Amino acid sequence: MHLAHKDITKVLASKEQIQTRIQELAIHIDEFYQDKNVLLLGILKGAVPFMADLSRAMQIPSSQDWMAVSSYGSGTVSSGVVRILKDLDTDIKDRHVLIVEDIIDSGLTLSWLTANLAAREAKSVEIVALLRKPEAAKVKIDVRWVGFDIPNEFVVGYGLDYNEQYRSLDGVGVLAPSVYS
Ligand code: IMP
Ligand code: MG
Repeated sequence: MHLAHKDITKVLASKEQIQTRIQELAIHIDEFYQDKNVLLLGILKGAVPFMADLSRAMQIPSSQDWMAVSSYGSGTVSSGVVRILKDLDTDIKDRHVLIVEDIIDSGLTLSWLTANLAAREAKSVEIVALLRKPEAAKVKIDVRWVGFDIPNEFVVGYGLDYNEQYRSLDGVGVLAPSVYS
């Protein structure tokens, strides 16, 4: 669905900008892993479009797995309480894992997740996030690659939702506060 939508007050990353940035990220990721077989770990559901586009832009071999975690409930403020809704199918012991995430807001979800994956004895754990809100950070996260730093506003599109809506927008934009307040 086109990002030009009545509930979007500002475009932060257009379809074209996202695709250009993903090509750049893929070059860096290819170079970083070179001949290693990396496991792309997508975080459901927000990272689905990013995983699909990023994995196809990469030239090195990769496999994919998915986890679903909940940190938000249905609201717009992070709770910091993380629950696994769907765990990995893969044993990641001695694997190179690249977490593919839609957005880093407080950082609480990824902080919890990286600790959880490290306990499973992955050989390496890195993070690529399409978006990051630097002003919202509550904990420091070592993110190796970020697509776009954005202001501390609630955004939707390209996988990101509000109450399961707007995920199919082809870019990322600010959701009109009137929709959720
Ligand atoms: P964190 O734990 O605060 O970093 O939140 C991470 C998760 O919250 C992301 O993976 C998203 O699912 C969700 N989230 C954070 N900010 C937004 C937003 O602006 N729009 C939609 N979802 C968001
Ligand atoms: Mg998410």
